Amino acid sequence: MDPARVMFVNHTSTVSGAELILADAVQPWAGATAFLFEDGPLNRALAARGLTVTRARRGGNLAALRRDSSPLRAAPLAARLAALTGEVAACARRHDVVYANSQKAFVLAALATTVVRRPLIWHLHDILDADHFGVLQRRLQVTLANARAAAVVVPSTAAARAFVAAGGSARIVRVVANGLDVTPDPRSRPVLRRDLGLPQALLVGVFSRLAHWKGQHVLLSALAGLPGVHALVAGAPLFGEDAYLRELEAQAVALGIADRVHFLGQRDDVPLLMQAVDAVVHPSIHPEPFGRTLVEAMLGGTPVVATRTGAAAEILEEGRAGLLVPPSDPAALVAALSGLLADPAAAAGQVAHARDRARTHYGVARMRGEIAALIGAVARGERP
Ligand code: UDP
Repeated sequence: MDPARVMFVNHTSTVSGAELILADAVQPWAGATAFLFEDGPLNRALAARGLTVTRARRGGNLAALRRDSSPLRAAPLAARLAALTGEVAACARRHDVVYANSQKAFVLAALATTVVRRPLIWHLHDILDADHFGVLQRRLQVTLANARAAAVVVPSTAAARAFVAAGGSARIVRVVANGLDVTPDPRSRPVLRRDLGLPQALLVGVFSRLAHWKGQHVLLSALAGLPGVHALVAGAPLFGEDAYLRELEAQAVALGIADRVHFLGQRDDVPLLMQAVDAVVHPSIHPEPFGRTLVEAMLGGTPVVATRTGAAAEILEEGRAGLLVPPSDPAALVAALSGLLADPAAAAGQVAHARDRARTHYGVARMRGEIAALIGAVARGERP
């Protein structure tokens, strides 16, 4: 049987975690179509993986619609959305399966595939709870998912639970943990720091896009209680949270730690930077659906301190593969980091265990295989 003709749909072409996962997941589907609402780095990444990239004629600026916009605020866009849905439907007609990789893509694809009667998979990269989404948005998404999705792929049991708690049907949810590959660099930490131009000091780092819920401000508060420790803050405000960057810079000045906080902006060498620091901090204040950065640190051999929210506890095996602290608690973070930085040898066993765990459970090949099998099953009309 010929491989299924798959159409991948994503609303944004800015590359954050969900798009990095998509770029890795599509590997077995060279020749498939990627239908994107705008131009950007994702278009180039997917074209480089052999996909035919189609850019919507009426998709521009849809990404600027905020996650928490009410449907009413979006009403003036209705005509454009209808036209865009028509474009998605016309493209879907030429495919066997539609795979929506973002919420906005899923909503339009749900409507479009109803018209052209194609099966639909939704890769839900979010925690569908009140911390992240308004009630109307959650209701719209679970209603469409229950009515239209042959399968909803989520990256963790935390994300699966949130989907079901929001009213999503447990029957259609499939947990496919995100997968990553990192080859550790052979250079020692001091050599990496020298080569990367980083300070030769006790060094911790946070590696996420800048957004209040990612909790970079909690790390800065903790840093005030960790004399002599420097922090790398890698990442940019990818989705319009520029004010948060200014708040962080002002916070560093107000706390008198500006000389110890290094804002690096968006980087494409995060796994290397992580290997140069003594600890990777993952300070999210709301539940994370996954946390690629946790696995990148685990694979690279750097100890992790994360907040006990969302998927972190399952990825870090309830604390056996990394330290867990309560969210929004700088004092707890100070205590965890002081212990870790004072006795790095003590963390060595945990780091080795974390690397094994990441290789076993969170590799790319496994993720690709699971997603390809699911797409194949849906294309054959099977209920996965
Ligand atoms: N990242 C990056 N450059 C940066 C900061 C982060 O490439 O400057 C990457 C990071 O290495 C990780 C991804 O962005 O692979 C973030 O994924 P995660 O699941 O942690 O969070 P998301 O952005 O999906 O909420």
